[in-house]
Amino acid sequence: MDHFLYQGGILHAEDVAIPDIAAAVGTPFYVYSTATLTRHFRLFTEALAPLPHLVCFAIKSLSNVAVLKVLGDLGAGMDVVSIGEYLRAKAAGVPGERIVFSGIGKTRAEIRMALEGGIRQFNVESEPEMRAISEIATSMGVVAPIAIRVNPDVDAKTHEKIATGKSENKFGIPIAKAHAAYAEAAALPGLRIVGVDVHIGSQLTDLAPFEAAFRKVRELTLALRADGHRIERLDLGGGLGIPYTRSNDAPPLPTDYGAMIKRVLGDLDAEIEIEPGRLISGNSGLLVAGVIYVKNGEGRDFLILDAAMNDLVRPSMYGAHHDILPVAEGAPGAPTQPFDVVGPVCETGDTFAKARELPLLAEGDLVAFRSAGAYGAVMASEYNSRPLIPEVLVQGHQFAVIRERPTYDEMISRDRLPEWL
Ligand SMILES: *Cc1c(COP(=O)(O)O)cnc(C)c1O
Repeated sequence: MDHFLYQGGILHAEDVAIPDIAAAVGTPFYVYSTATLTRHFRLFTEALAPLPHLVCFAIKSLSNVAVLKVLGDLGAGMDVVSIGEYLRAKAAGVPGERIVFSGIGKTRAEIRMALEGGIRQFNVESEPEMRAISEIATSMGVVAPIAIRVNPDVDAKTHEKIATGKSENKFGIPIAKAHAAYAEAAALPGLRIVGVDVHIGSQLTDLAPFEAAFRKVRELTLALRADGHRIERLDLGGGLGIPYTRSNDAPPLPTDYGAMIKRVLGDLDAEIEIEPGRLISGNSGLLVAGVIYVKNGEGRDFLILDAAMNDLVRPSMYGAHHDILPVAEGAPGAPTQPFDVVGPVCETGDTFAKARELPLLAEGDLVAFRSAGAYGAVMASEYNSRPLIPEVLVQGHQFAVIRERPTYDEMISRDRLPEWL
């Protein structure tokens, strides 16, 4: 469920009409709903209660500081994969004790900064990383809390580019090597073991792979405790999928996910951490674009938008589907026609949808891409020298620009001419 509905035939974000935002900031832009972000976060906290838990929002899915503040003020923790994301969490007022640092290539500089600023735990992905963290912590006279990310060799049955839990993927330490890794960690002076971490992929639409992975985490936890390690936290990663279409085969709900976690891990007396990104942010955002031209091709009509693959890369990168809504709702029974929906970038891959059935749209009309909150704005680039597009946050009747559109001057003035030119 989200808060993007038609009122009087016009698409709204909560109580704000999309054309009002378009008039104020120009198109294209991203718009996020505070009510949807809040609702999705609470679904997880309610699903995990009464187990002790921390829901850590995966910042990589949507990293605007205003969005992080909405979630942080509700008590969310944050899952970060770079020191840039760590600093965003801090800028949103989230304390270090609620920030988990994931990622396979944390640099020494990043590790040091996180230790200086305070960190809940490092999710360690390799033995060399473990040694580096210990060395840096020791040199600073502190002890770093760590969990080891294990790779459970489970097929997440998702898109190959976002599956992370098979042994062939680069992530985590193979679960068979976990005993040795924990033994080494326990012997390192700068580390304090706090838990076990796992994350098997993104956009999972079935609970079975999660359950298979969590059962392995359970076995491992019992075995590690028998070895004398203190396993107080189980970080189960993110990855719960969202409905990108309004079809029947909807992914599992957070309630069912939470119930399964309680069933598999509830008796272990451990704090549960989860790292959802997409399920909180995905359906909390729209990408709104304007129609520049309608071009009648041979056997097909192209809807040429002012948004492009540099603004929303998921269709060209993953072949992803996004529902596209006309901002002015067609009257019931009004005619529709198939359009190839494309952007202005000079790449054939800059195609959002083929033969998409839409009302008879014309120049100047607005359309909205649903489910664009996650992996939308964060993956945008300035390809074709198209400045990054603005982000807008809505709450009830109010809206505010939470990232401005840079001017062309700002974009170009970052370039420097060397003195010999
Ligand atoms: C990407 C990622 C997540 C979030 O995944 P979603 O599919 O957006 O929920 C969580 N944890 C880690 C370690 C990740 O890499």
